[in-house]
Amino acid sequence: MPTIRQTILVVEDEASIAETIVYALQTEGFTPLWKTTGREALAALKQQSVALVVLDVGLPDMSGFDVCREMQKLGAPPVIFLTARSSEVDKIVGLELGADDYLAKPFSPRELTARVRAVLRRANPDRVGAPVATAWVHDEARCRITYRGKALELTRNEYRLLAALLASPGRVFNRDQLMAAAWDDPGAAFDRTVDAHIKMVRAKLREAAPEADPIVTNRGLGYSLREE
Ligand code: CA
Repeated sequence: MPTIRQTILVVEDEASIAETIVYALQTEGFTPLWKTTGREALAALKQQSVALVVLDVGLPDMSGFDVCREMQKLGAPPVIFLTARSSEVDKIVGLELGADDYLAKPFSPRELTARVRAVLRRANPDRVGAPVATAWVHDEARCRITYRGKALELTRNEYRLLAALLASPGRVFNRDQLMAAAWDDPGAAFDRTVDAHIKMVRAKLREAAPEADPIVTNRGLGYSLREE
C-alpha cells in the first residue's frame, strides 16, 4: 500500500472553530481541507477523494444534513457532524443520515481527533493500527482492489495495471512500463491495448465513485494516479 496522508474535509463556517480543527488534524498527521460552505465542500469532494468529512450542521448556504445527503451520491466518505444544539443531535439520530458520529460544540481538539481516528478505524477495519489509510485498499493476497469502499471487479490485466499505478501514486508511467507491469508478454500487446484497458478501469472506478476520476492522463507521457 502506498503511504498517503489522509485528507480530512472540514466544513465549518466559523473560522475560530475551523482553525482549531485544522491545527489539531495537522498535528495528528492528517491533511485538512477547510471549506466554509456546503457548496464548496461538495465541489471539493468531486475533485478529490477524502478519507472523512467533519461537517457542521449549521452552514450559511445549506444545512449539513442536505450536504450529507448530497455527499452520499459522491461516494459517501464517513461523516462526523458538529452540532451546536441538542435538537440537531435528535435529528442526526432520527434521520438515519448515515452519520458515523457527532460532536456537540464546544468540544476539545483532542476529542475530535480521537473520534476521527475511531471512525477511520471502523471504516477501514483491515487497516487497524496503520498510520494512514486511503480511499484505496489493495489486498494483494486476494488480488483485489477496493476504491472508496467498493470492491472493483477487474480482469487480470486491469488489476495489474491499476496495481502498478497504485504502487506509486503521482508517478507517471509510460505505456511500455505499464505493459511490462500488466502483461506477461508485453511484446504481444499494442500501445492502444494499454489505453483500452485504462479506459475500462476508469469506467469501473466511475461506478465505484462517480466523478472521482483518480487516473490522470499525462499527455504524451502516460498515466499516473492522482496523489490524494
Ligand atoms: Ca456554523
